[in-house]
Amino acid sequence: MEAWHAACVADSPCPRMVHAHLHRATFHRRLGAGLWVLLLMVSAPLARAFDTVVLDAGHGDFDRGAAIGYVYEKHLALDTARRVQQLLEKAGLNVVMTRSRDVFVPLPGRASAGNKHGNAIFVSIHYNYSRGGGGAGAESYYYHSKGYALAAYIQAYLVQRTGMSNRGVKHASFHVIRETTRNPAVLIECGFVSNSTERARMMTGDFRNRIAEGIAQGIVSYKKSN
Ligand SMILES: [Zn+2]
Repeated sequence: MEAWHAACVADSPCPRMVHAHLHRATFHRRLGAGLWVLLLMVSAPLARAFDTVVLDAGHGDFDRGAAIGYVYEKHLALDTARRVQQLLEKAGLNVVMTRSRDVFVPLPGRASAGNKHGNAIFVSIHYNYSRGGGGAGAESYYYHSKGYALAAYIQAYLVQRTGMSNRGVKHASFHVIRETTRNPAVLIECGFVSNSTERARMMTGDFRNRIAEGIAQGIVSYKKSN
C-alpha cells in the first residue's frame, strides 16, 4: 500500500516501520506454495469460533479512496462488500455492515463495530493504489497476531479464485485493524485501481463476484478449520 493511500486508512507510519514491513513483505513473497499450506495447517488451531462477520467497506461519501477518472475505490469496496455479505448469509453467517450505502463512517466508528459483537471477525475491504500504476495483485493485512490466520485464509482463496498475483500476508498498523482488539481483524486490498489492466477487470461485476467468492470462501474455510 502506497503512503498516499495508506494515509486515508492509517496513522502515518514512520519510515522505520515502513522499512520493517517491506522486509516482512519480501519474506512472505519468498515463501513457496508448500510453505503456505504448512502455515495454514499450523495456524488452523488458532482460528476461533464465530457466528458474525463485520464487513467494513472502505471510505465513502467525500472520501473516495483511490480514484482514477470516475472509478472510485469507495464504490468498488461497497459493491464487493455487498457481494460478500450475500455469500456469507447464504452460508448461514450473520453479517454486520459498517456502511451499506455511500456514507462516510469515521475510522473509530468502524473499529467500534469490530469490537461490539463477541464471537465475531472483522474484515475491511479496500482497493489499492500506487503512483505510476506499477503495482499489481492482492494483499491481506493483519495487526494483532490473532488476525494472522484469517488473513492467510482469505489471501490464499482470493488469489486462487481471481488469479491475481500474490503480494502476500502483511503486518501493518492501519487504524481499523489495530483498534479492533476484541476479534480477529484483517484488511484486504483487492487489486490496484491505478493499474489499467486490473482496473478494467475490477470494473466488471463478474470479476468483483470472483473477488467476493474468494473472500467468502476464505472466511468459511477459516471457520471450518476451527
Ligand atoms: Zn482504501
